[in-house]
Amino acid sequence: MTTSACEPPPPHLLRNFTGGAWTRAESGVVRANVNPADASDVIGEFPESGGVDVEHAVGVAADAFAAWQALDPVRRAGHLACAARLLEERADRFAVAITREQGKLLVEARAEVHGAVAALDFVAGEARRLERTAVPTVDDRTSAFSFRRPIGVVGLITTWHLPLATPVRKLAPALLAGCTVVLKPSPLAPLTPALLAEVLHEAGVPPGVFNLVQGDAAAGEALVDHPSVAGVGFTGSRRVAAAVHRAGSGRLLRTELDLAGKDTVVVLDDADLDKAVAAVAAGAFGQAGQRYGAVGRVVVDRRVRREFLARLLPRVASLRLGPGMDPRSEMGPLVDEEHVHACLEAVAKVRAGGAELLSGGDRAAGGPLGGRYVRPTVLAGDLFAVETAVEEVFGPVVGLVEADGPDEAVRLVGNVRTAMSVAVFTTSRTRALEAVERLDASAVHVNRPAVAAYVPHADAKGAWCGPTEFASRMWDLSTEWRSARVTL
Ligand code: NAD
Repeated sequence: MTTSACEPPPPHLLRNFTGGAWTRAESGVVRANVNPADASDVIGEFPESGGVDVEHAVGVAADAFAAWQALDPVRRAGHLACAARLLEERADRFAVAITREQGKLLVEARAEVHGAVAALDFVAGEARRLERTAVPTVDDRTSAFSFRRPIGVVGLITTWHLPLATPVRKLAPALLAGCTVVLKPSPLAPLTPALLAEVLHEAGVPPGVFNLVQGDAAAGEALVDHPSVAGVGFTGSRRVAAAVHRAGSGRLLRTELDLAGKDTVVVLDDADLDKAVAAVAAGAFGQAGQRYGAVGRVVVDRRVRREFLARLLPRVASLRLGPGMDPRSEMGPLVDEEHVHACLEAVAKVRAGGAELLSGGDRAAGGPLGGRYVRPTVLAGDLFAVETAVEEVFGPVVGLVEADGPDEAVRLVGNVRTAMSVAVFTTSRTRALEAVERLDASAVHVNRPAVAAYVPHADAKGAWCGPTEFASRMWDLSTEWRSARVTL
């Protein structure tokens, strides 16, 4: 089913979802969610929930825990698989909602929906592999073993840039493990999580097992502070992650903090430059640079710098800016005015530090929202070097740094506080393998974009704090180990 860009969501989606029902927030305060590509498209007014609403959601989640954890994991997985099919059927509706409230291109939104479907299927497939280990004993009448048990209610706090994929990656393992969940998504993209709540409900997830509380910092703080919340999974900025960490530390709260960070592309002097240019253009300007793991810096060997720029700059200048719903658009708007300011301020700061502007650097004129589009920006200078003190520019900005050979490239890659992943472009097998060993980053890609792929996320250099979100370690937030010794 395709939803028209201006169709208002049904009124129930403008509420919280708790205990299997669409509920009004006690505060009565609402916040309008507006399409970043069209100020006249008010998507809806969503609740600004407060402590009372969180209290209610956590209460019903706590009540639902015993029955949900008692269910066989394979039955729990059945609900996730069913949710995956519903999501697949409604892919267009989800993609339109994502584009409409977040601003990304429809093709990018569709990719996000497919990623979420894959994540649900992946987690559902793990139902028969929940870990259990037997420990050898000297006495053959005694057996000893350890197994994972769900921790109870898990609170999830997420961002707006992947409003479907991030909640799904976090809630699927928690639900499969037997935890119940309260999700507090970003107020900048509340419709997509509401559609997700609808899908989980229709997939048979029992009342109280999955709950959605809309709102911002007040609701997030209440979730972190609630004594019945046994663990919190968070995705967002380092600043808020630190606040969550501080608030939770008083009661030794288990937290999974998925932090900010931009990626680096390294172009060595033997690289296929067309491939490298394509990777930088897609990595830096896809989703208008508003994603963790977007390419924020390019370390290029000085021997190929001129040729690399000669190919990159015309490509950047030709990118067509426009609404994500328009199939001709190649880059969408920034999510709100605050982010436009933050992006332009960071560019000014880096320029004041000596970086030269090679392309863009300002708002694009025209269009229905005019100033909400920042032109794709290339700077000669390091955006994220420790000295620059800019940790992240959440927008379409990339900085170019020159290196004198692979050794200096390795040193420059290490010269940042955070590093999600690095992509190296080289035609030499030896250099490729050396790069994987030597580069200081969570993940290294060779001759492919640095955008984080479906490999287990890694946690080097402050990309993560606490358990990580996917693959083999995805149970670490929502389960705890128990042990037993049995003598018969
Ligand atoms: P943000 O940190 O401002 O907000 C994240 C979430 O925290 C939102 O739901 C917000 O309402 C909530 N929140 C705000 N204050 C809170 C508080 N005091 N206590 C509890 N919750 C609170 O981030 P954002 O602007 O939504 O998203 C952009 C940031 O997220 C970028 O820095 C980006 O790099 C990062 N990010 C990282 C990853 C990753 O996988 N590492 C993924 C996505 C986004």
